[in-house]
Amino acid sequence: MTTAQAHRTAAKHHPRRIALFGGSFDPIHNGHLAVARAADRRFNFDEIHFIPASRPPHKLKQHLAPFPHRFAMTSLACAEHPHFVPSLAEAGEDFSGTQLHYSVDTVRYFRHAYNGHGDRIFFIIGADAFLDIPVWKEYETLLGLCDFIVANRPGIRAEALRLVIPPHLIGRRGLKKNGEAQPSQVVAELQNTSVHLLESVSVDVSATDIRRRANRGQSIHGLVSVRVEEYILKQGLYR
Ligand code: ATP
Repeated sequence: MTTAQAHRTAAKHHPRRIALFGGSFDPIHNGHLAVARAADRRFNFDEIHFIPASRPPHKLKQHLAPFPHRFAMTSLACAEHPHFVPSLAEAGEDFSGTQLHYSVDTVRYFRHAYNGHGDRIFFIIGADAFLDIPVWKEYETLLGLCDFIVANRPGIRAEALRLVIPPHLIGRRGLKKNGEAQPSQVVAELQNTSVHLLESVSVDVSATDIRRRANRGQSIHGLVSVRVEEYILKQGLYR
């Protein structure tokens, strides 16, 4: 290989920044999109993968639209942004979205898929969901597998988010000389990863509220993207 060829080969791969944003997305709404856009502005992602969560058999009773509907709405919302990718990572082999999936395995899957030199994986999550993380499978491992971007939601203080992280996971670089806490945009520095805070991006909208409105026949205009609104009406979802 000539030097010029070697340079070209090296230039082909620039380290990629990949964000994963999982959720029920029942439906995906403007709150989710606002968080993703704000994260994108700050971290400059090459791709943000929106991952509708599977609905495992033992949760079938939980009221959740079938996976194909949630994936379709996610795809429609993603069409508006060149970096937004609708993901089938939790669809399962039969694409039914009824197999059990854990975030730790999903992150491992993406780390395997994006394993170029310098590639980094970020996990976007709302503050309410982050507070629940200690009950997730292998959550200590998960916290060490990728960076986290926690979107703050009203009423949740950064200190509460920090308390969720076991002290022994906090890296030395996470402590300032005087032992003071982090700068406000970082919740904690772990050994190899960071938990970042995304402040004031939260739009006051929830999927629960949208389902309730649709159920009552009220307008959901402005709460979800236009194509998603159209889809919900055409399919008669949440009636
Ligand atoms: P539901 O009302 O059904 O509980 P949701 O609106 O919270 O749903 P999910 O699909 O469960 O939506 O959320 C996926 C992720 O997005 C979670 O991490 C959640 O915390 C976050 N999230 C949802 N809505 C907002 C919002 N308005 N602002 C910031 N984060 C949000």
